Amino acid sequence: MLDIYIFPDNSYKLKTTIMKHLKNSLFIISLFFALNSYAQNREVQIKVNKLTDNIYMLVGQGGNIGVFVGNDGVFMIDDQFAPLTPKILAAIKTITSKPVNYLVNTHWHGDHTGGNLNMANEGAIIVSHENVRKRMSMDQVIRGRKRKASPQKALPVITFTQDMMYHFNNDDVLISHIHNAHTDGDALVYFTKNNVLHMGDAYFQGKFPYIDIASGGSIDGYIDGIKKAILLSDENTIIIPGHGNISNKKEMKSYLKMLETLRNRVFQELKQGKSLEQVTKDNNITKGYKSYNGWINAEKIRIAIYKSLENK
Ligand SMILES: [Zn+2]
Repeated sequence: MLDIYIFPDNSYKLKTTIMKHLKNSLFIISLFFALNSYAQNREVQIKVNKLTDNIYMLVGQGGNIGVFVGNDGVFMIDDQFAPLTPKILAAIKTITSKPVNYLVNTHWHGDHTGGNLNMANEGAIIVSHENVRKRMSMDQVIRGRKRKASPQKALPVITFTQDMMYHFNNDDVLISHIHNAHTDGDALVYFTKNNVLHMGDAYFQGKFPYIDIASGGSIDGYIDGIKKAILLSDENTIIIPGHGNISNKKEMKSYLKMLETLRNRVFQELKQGKSLEQVTKDNNITKGYKSYNGWINAEKIRIAIYKSLENK
């Protein structure tokens, strides 16, 4: 989803800086907020949710992590932010004593790949769509902010272009690329025997999605990704979203309906020659979907869909 930076070892430095600038009240106010979020970061706990005998969802800060354990070892999906790696590994140790053999990145964003370097140093083999490796190898701009290229060792070492299968821990695991949805490198991971599906950020459970157009995302790709998930699922499939709570096929069907409705409403406006400014201000387009307001609010989703469709 988004970029959050955590500075775990700077508390002494911060305190010294506060003392130096005590007279500047504006500075203190902004520092209060900085320290407040810093404190929150310090308190991140990794929650372990058991989904099946072999699959767990780890929730901390950043994208939901999938952990698949068994006799062959550990297969992990996404790794949140670098400072959280020790906590994440400690949480996995409460499930199994086996090391993490494989790590799949569902896309390149920092809240899903931030721990890559640490995990590679732990011996994990990192796997992703080829565009994840490409984007991580180069400087990127995300929501107007620059992000430096990742060090060589943090990059995925195995890449795929469409589909691949893993035969591991007695399951057959499908990793499948979704074209231009949240980004241009999205992958879903479906554990066929466990009947668990990890969607990465191609699914924001209960909230409007973030469509990263600068990274190749699009509303039509996003809709196709949700359709693909619905096709793969049955009534018992446990769905792990990139962000939000455990979900299911029924909930995904209403999510699809919401996306298709908004897409069609924006498309009608475009056909009538409405400008981006008009669509940005028009609350009627998102009428009936207030409950999906989140980090991406109704206005932001209208803008994203408009930008995604304007050259059609
Ligand atoms: Zn993301």
